[in-house]
Amino acid sequence: MKTIYSPTHSLVNLSNTILAHYQIPTNHPPIKKLLATLKGKQKVAFLLFDGMGQSILRRHLPFYAWLRTKTLCSITSTFPSTTAAATNAFLSAKYPNEIGWLGWAHYFPEHDRILELFTGKDSLLQQPALPATEVQKTIQYQSIFQILHQHKPNLAIHQVWPDVRPGGYKTIDTWFQHLHELGLQPGPSFTYGYWLDPDKTIHQQGVCPKTVQTIIHDIQSRLKQLAEQNPDTTYIVFADHGLLDVSFLSIQAHQEIYALLKRSFSLEPRAATFFVKDHQHALFAKRFHHFYGKHFLLLTKQEVKDQKLYGLGTNHPRFNDFIGDFVAIAKGRFGFTHGTKDDKMPLTMKAHHAGMTPAEMMIDVMVLNL
Ligand SMILES: [Zn+2]
Repeated sequence: MKTIYSPTHSLVNLSNTILAHYQIPTNHPPIKKLLATLKGKQKVAFLLFDGMGQSILRRHLPFYAWLRTKTLCSITSTFPSTTAAATNAFLSAKYPNEIGWLGWAHYFPEHDRILELFTGKDSLLQQPALPATEVQKTIQYQSIFQILHQHKPNLAIHQVWPDVRPGGYKTIDTWFQHLHELGLQPGPSFTYGYWLDPDKTIHQQGVCPKTVQTIIHDIQSRLKQLAEQNPDTTYIVFADHGLLDVSFLSIQAHQEIYALLKRSFSLEPRAATFFVKDHQHALFAKRFHHFYGKHFLLLTKQEVKDQKLYGLGTNHPRFNDFIGDFVAIAKGRFGFTHGTKDDKMPLTMKAHHAGMTPAEMMIDVMVLNL
């Protein structure tokens, strides 16, 4: 299998380009074309629109649309192509395997539960279990903001979040307004902005609807205005992944498979890991191939390591805990669901991501005010 992510043009290389731009030692190679483009730029802002990958952008904007004419290059997400892994890989300038962020919900042996990293919820019950800070305790990492501050104490560093974080912005209007205010401030600066859409809407409504198109067009016109009003700021616009319309399969549908598992799957519906009961590995693989082989690529834990599926560099101390005996990666439109009576969330989602299809993996990088 060829690597699913690019070793030279992925989100990890994108943030290493930031380090290189500020003459800070990198963890992985920067993207040379972007580095050359940023040369001499004093005010730089990286804006991440969740889920606005290549497939979404190109579906809703024609090639001659203003934003698409600003495309500098295409990159890949990380594996898995999902927010928890991809955004934190970007923010650490390291791969998911290096920081231990491997998906939406990990199995934690010390808690004996599958817990969502961002929310602290029990993934099976969809109920609060632990504070998110407690869940994230063993997978803290040094962020690019901390690295930049260490090396460039005089550089103004800004983060602009939605209200998922304390002090974040409730509406896209106020979020853009704040970016404009930062653009007006004199002196060298680095800004990171993250916005929840179009991901949020596409999960609920699918990739096609008019509402998604309206969101993409709205983002485009707001970006155009922002760039025109702040000509001395260079904006790099990108996404963490794309999405595709999906159908869910209950992991409990085939008892001859489910009975071989120690517990339900973890990590991601479309990049699921399985902890298999002792001495049942070969039987599990055989049955999995029979029922799901058409829709999922099944790798053993050893193959996951050998193929460096989750990234290059040194594995995080918790990597081994979080990866079960197998990982199943979606090749087409299916994802797994736990199939418990409380498990309502994934079944109501029309679109998802984290698999290995180009629709999920490919990202266009646009540069405004070159
Ligand atoms: Zn996302």
